[in-house]
Amino acid sequence: MIRKKLIAGNWKMNKTSSDAVALVSEIVAAVGRATDVDVVVCPPFTSLESVFKVIDGSTVKLGAQNLHPEASGAYTGETSAAMLRALFASYVIVGHSERRTYFAESDTFINQKVLAALKAQLKPILCVGETLGERESGSTLKVVQTQLEGALEGVSKDLATSVVLAYEPVWAIGTGKVATTEQAQEVHAFIRGLLTKLFGAATSGKMRILYGGSMKPANAAELLAQKDIDGGLIGGASLESRSFVDLVKAAAAAK
Ligand code: PEP
Repeated sequence: MIRKKLIAGNWKMNKTSSDAVALVSEIVAAVGRATDVDVVVCPPFTSLESVFKVIDGSTVKLGAQNLHPEASGAYTGETSAAMLRALFASYVIVGHSERRTYFAESDTFINQKVLAALKAQLKPILCVGETLGERESGSTLKVVQTQLEGALEGVSKDLATSVVLAYEPVWAIGTGKVATTEQAQEVHAFIRGLLTKLFGAATSGKMRILYGGSMKPANAAELLAQKDIDGGLIGGASLESRSFVDLVKAAAAAK
């Protein structure tokens, strides 16, 4: 398999700095030497520095949950790509449905973030996915296509392999309702096809497409066995070391 599986934990607005250190210490103790799966933790900004001190020297990588596209300036409360790089972040989540919904982020703004991340050598984890209403009205693939093409506008073929995609059906996020393997694989294969159109088959074949939405140790093996599912973006189950570690192990076993 040319694509190494990736398991990323999105801690969202959870964990104080000391809670974050406790959680990541358990993760490093269990899977901090894993080389067959890429493991990424995305704590809140306030814990990036303390979490990096724990993962430094291990194979676990650091991700942020957001960035602002501008390099610096009068953007109160925001964080630039360079600031994240200075804290040793390697990945950044972009276009999460919670940011699209609660912070009205458009595909254009998300595109600016993707380009800013790549320019700073941060790997964007670009989230796309439909709402329940959109699925029920049969527009899932159209919605995913619009989000994906909008967010990847201007991304060169050379940099495309640094982008990680995450298909996250909004109706499955934090709800306990996981997409069936058929539903997930259908959209993942569709995304692979779009990436092939944009960047060519050789590049698209190297790009990882994660599934996100109530992924848990109990449902992971089946999802991770699908041809175009290259890992998981994990919310709830990443807040507890045992379930997150079990997901990393499930990804290793699915290779
Ligand atoms: C997410 O928010 O990226 C996510 C996948 O959350 P959960 O695993 O809790 O559904």
